[in-house]
Amino acid sequence: MSDYIIISIFILAVGACIGSFLNVVALRALSKESIIFPSSKCPKCSSPIKWYDNIPVLSYFLTFKGKCRSCGEKVSIQYPIVEALTSILFLVVYLTFGLTLKTLLLLILLCTAIVITITDIRKEYVFDVHSWIFIITALVYSVYYHDVYFAFIGFIGAAILMEFIARVSYYLVRKNNEERDEDDKDKKEITQTEENEENIDINDYVKKYKRAFGEGDTYLAAGVGALLGIKYFIAAVACAIIFQAICVLPQFIMNLYRKKEIRLLISLGGFIILAILYFLLSNIFKLNIFVIFGFVIALIFFAIDTIIRLKNIVNNEGYKAIPFGPALLFSGFMILFYGSYIVYFIKKYIFLMVNL
Ligand SMILES: [Zn+2]
Repeated sequence: MSDYIIISIFILAVGACIGSFLNVVALRALSKESIIFPSSKCPKCSSPIKWYDNIPVLSYFLTFKGKCRSCGEKVSIQYPIVEALTSILFLVVYLTFGLTLKTLLLLILLCTAIVITITDIRKEYVFDVHSWIFIITALVYSVYYHDVYFAFIGFIGAAILMEFIARVSYYLVRKNNEERDEDDKDKKEITQTEENEENIDINDYVKKYKRAFGEGDTYLAAGVGALLGIKYFIAAVACAIIFQAICVLPQFIMNLYRKKEIRLLISLGGFIILAILYFLLSNIFKLNIFVIFGFVIALIFFAIDTIIRLKNIVNNEGYKAIPFGPALLFSGFMILFYGSYIVYFIKKYIFLMVNL
């Protein structure tokens, strides 16, 4: 038993060190520096980092306390978060699958997914090298644990599906974007001079290639398809969209509050609270027909009021969501690990609710 704890602590430590390395891989890919060569330095003042300030997770909180010792520049919280996350994921995978080939392949997939998530969130960019490592590992995993057909149909099917979505949704969102671009023209000219030349502007890319999003997402989708097979890939896309919606919702509500759209907030909140109340009450008591009628009228009133007020608000207010690629990777792993439980849960609870 004590051996077990010692191995777990060892795995946590290894995970934290690899997390630290993943930070470096992602950030040096973005800054086009060599992974191995320059030793760790402050991104602002380039002063070298001492070994005792370079211990994963711990140093950030204990020794240099989140600020560079030379220039006082705040060090991104991204470093300890990625280190801690990698460390925990390593332990979870190890405790679930032990010291096996499966663990090794899953850890490679998770590490690659973490690097892709960092570059995508920081610069909206996914490097082909990282995507291909993910795809090839996913193919090996699927060929080994399922079969060749499962792997390649998932891989090709997901790629085709994603390309189709990218191109069709371009035509759906184009009109919306063109209207917004007219408004943004002046603003853009100012910001463009400030940014450095090598920055890839995703909006220009979208316009040039007539796609709703970049090719990076198609590569990632192909990788997730190879890993999960085509059936579960579609479930992962649905999960990713729900996940993104959940990310946007709190910002949306905060914005409503900040921009004094209190009336909309009341309408939307009222609708949701009434709907939940009605669902709960109708399950506990046998409701009187007049009470039901009252609820329905109130719900219709709040719904109409919400829709009218929503229409008056400009849609594109620049909400920040997790980019689609990382959302898809996250959903992919969730389904890989917990797919069978999720299917069970949906069958048991969601379909039961529809029957009521
Ligand atoms: Zn510094």
